[in-house]
Parts: sequence; C-alpha cells; structure tokens
Amino acid sequence: MDLVVIGAGIVGLAHASLALAEGWSVVVVDRDHEAVGASVRNFGHACITAQSGDLHTMAKSSRRHLLAMAEKAGFRAAEAGAVVIARTPAELAILEELAAAREAGEVQLLDAEETSSRIGRSDAEGILGGAWLRDDLRVDPRTTVAALAAWVDAQPRGEVRWNTTALGADGASGAQGDQTVVVRTSRGTLHARRAIVCVGNDVDRLWPELAAEHQIQRCVLQMARVQMAHDEASAEPEIVPAVLTATSMLRYPAFTDMPSAQGLREQVVAAQPELLEIGANVMCTQRPDGTLLVGDSHAYSLTAAPFLDERTSQILLDEHRAVLGRDLTVIERWQGVYASSDVAPYLVRDVAPGVTVVSVTSGVGMTLSFGLAERTLAAMAPTP
Ligand SMILES: Cc1cc2nc3c(=O)[nH]c(=O)nc-3n(C[C@H](O)[C@H](O)[C@H](O)COP(=O)(O)OP(=O)(O)OC[C@H]3O[C@@H](n4cnc5c(N)ncnc54)[C@H](O)[C@@H]3O)c2cc1C
Repeated sequence: MDLVVIGAGIVGLAHASLALAEGWSVVVVDRDHEAVGASVRNFGHACITAQSGDLHTMAKSSRRHLLAMAEKAGFRAAEAGAVVIARTPAELAILEELAAAREAGEVQLLDAEETSSRIGRSDAEGILGGAWLRDDLRVDPRTTVAALAAWVDAQPRGEVRWNTTALGADGASGAQGDQTVVVRTSRGTLHARRAIVCVGNDVDRLWPELAAEHQIQRCVLQMARVQMAHDEASAEPEIVPAVLTATSMLRYPAFTDMPSAQGLREQVVAAQPELLEIGANVMCTQRPDGTLLVGDSHAYSLTAAPFLDERTSQILLDEHRAVLGRDLTVIERWQGVYASSDVAPYLVRDVAPGVTVVSVTSGVGMTLSFGLAERTLAAMAPTP
C-alpha cells in the first residue's frame, strides 16, 4: 500500500482523493463510524476571497479541486459567492478598500437594496450597502464529507475503514531512501510507504510534544440550525450566498489587512462589546432544506469545555435576527471544535520518516483542505 491517511474529515479526505488521482493506493482510517468532527459541524463555506497572500493562493487551488471533486463524488459545491453586509460607514470603507485592492469583479460592491435582496430581505432598513465575494463556494457540510468518503471507498485503489482508531505511526528509511511506515490501529497493523495524519484538533492525543510546540489549542464554537419566519403565502426565502457581517471582517485576513479595520474594531468595542466578548463571527449559510446554519462564537482552551452557554447563543441569535430582519426558530444547537494556533495557520510536519502530520490551525480547513493537500503531496514527490 502507498498511503495510510488517519482521519476522514475534509483534510484527510482531500489528501486521500488527490493521492488516488496520482495513482497511489490509499487506505483512510477513522476512529468513528462516520465523520462527526469539525468538517460536518461547520458552515460549509469555502471562504476563498477573505484569505490573503499565500493563503489566498492556496484557497484558490482548493476551490478548483473542490469543484472538480463535487462533480466526481456527487456533492454540490455552489458557486454562490458570499455577501458581506455593511451597516456602518467603517464596514463600507473596508469593503471599498478590499474591492480596490483585488482584481476587477472579485469583490463587487452592492447598494443597500441589492444587499438586502441577496439575503432574502424585503426591506433594507439599517443596511448601508455590501459586497459580493465572487469566488466563495458553499457546500452542505452534513453531506459533503460523507460523499467524499464514499467516493474514496468506491475507487479500486481506495478504501475507508471506519471504527478504526490509529494508536500511533512509526517510519523507517531503507538503504535506497525508500520508506516503510507502520500504523498501529485498534484493528491491527497497517504497512505502507507513507502515512498522513489528519486528526484535526487531536494532534495532542498522538504527538503531544508537536501539539505543544505548535501551541495548538482547541477552539470551541457554538452553532445553531434555525428556521426563518415567513408568510404562509410565500415560500421560504432563498439565501444563495454565504452571509458575512462586521465581525467576519474582524476575523478574516483580507479584511483585517485593510486600513479601516482598526476603526471597525473600535466601533464594535464601543457599540457591541458583547460580540467581542464571545468572539463572535456572525455569519450564516443556507442548507438545501432552507434552514440556516448560524453562528458562531470562539472560546480557546486545551480541553474543550462541554457546556453550551445560553447567553452566547442568545447574543448570536439576536444579532442574526437583526441582520436578516426576521424572526428565527432554533431547531438544533451544537458545539464544534477545531485546532487553533497563533504560531501558523496550518501545521505540516514530518514526525518520522514517511509520517507527516497535517492540521489546519486557523479555522478555515473547509477552505484550505485541497490546496494544502496538493502541496503536501507535491512535497512528497517522487510519488510511489
Ligand atoms: C463550527 C465550525 C464552523 C466552521 N466553519 C468553517 C467554514 O465555514 N469554512 C471553513 O473553511 N472552515 C470552517 N471551520 C473549520 C473547519 O471545519 C476545520 O478546519 C476542518 O473541518 C478541519 O478538518 P479536519 O479533517 O482536519 O478535522 P475533522 O473534521 O475534525 O476530522 C478529523 C477526523 O479525524 C478522526 N480522528 C481523530 N483521531 C483519530 C485517530 N487517532 N484515529 C483515527 N481517526 C481519528 C476524527 O474521528 C475525525 O473524523 C469551522 C469549524 C467549526 C467547528
């Protein structure tokens, strides 16, 4: 066997899919019976445009692969873009600055009416304008990872083994520079030429020193799925793009790089400090059934506290009601956890000959996964 991938989230499956495309034989192992990690708990937003520098380049190659894999594996990657809503002059200024900094058409400024109609509102009260981020994609997080795993498993040289926990991996180099890797699992030992470890926020469970060195913490996010109120006579509003707001502009690098970002932070500190207290990124995406995935808050610690804080949920819901201009009924709440580090946005490290640990440590693994996988595999050349 050429490759064992540990972890069947989006990062592991991106590596597995691209390795299969290179002709490698691949086995993916996951400790669970189906993927239930960060990759199914998120918004499904490939947040391409809001990345900057090298991450933007990586995100754009990820986008190409996501679209190609959507065709092959039969999941929907909607070229829906994202709408960023501006409700104050500082927010509008950042969008204007970003539009001027990017190639023509990539960031398209919208007036208040255009912005509100794209988020399913019949009025533009409180909205000054916005921008449409052309290159962003939207996938349904609850079905995408399962579809990708099924595709990998259906390939003649691919296999996914669920309910199989990796306990460790060791590698050795032969005299010719060739590598042999041994992966110990709860269901026996696997031998391969390479192993790529994509266990999300659980790097510390297998390589605690590496996790400590990269200062990986767990970032805990509160999310909800909500139903939008609408007239009996009218259909549920359709919100095609992902929807971002002021707090998204405080989080993603393309916005924080802009000259007006500091002014926006001061504005939120003065007017809505509770949003900063809970680390809010008020954003939403629509699922195929019309319900919205709304979130989120951010809290950082080594171990994820299991409790959902009701005040945090209410602050987020109130802000979503204000942004969308309609009442929302909560159907489900859950917690998501991702790996976070201030050291770097992602970790790629060889921990033994032929054994590479990969983790996105900046909360945008859905966006970067395939671009990162492309680079990891290229660095492993020559291919087996
Ligand atoms: C609420 C929330 C919202 C987010 N929104 C977005 C977004 O809109 N856009 C975006 O780009 N990113 C978003 N992210 C971040 C993104 O979801 C993550 O960066 C990404 O899913 C990480 O993928 P992963 O495959 O590394 O981890 P995971 O999806 O967590 O997968 C890791 C897998 O490894 C398995 N595993 C762990 N240990 C072992 C072991 N020892 N043996 C075998 N298997 C093991 C687990 O069972 C799991 O299936 C969000 C995250 C959260 C939590």
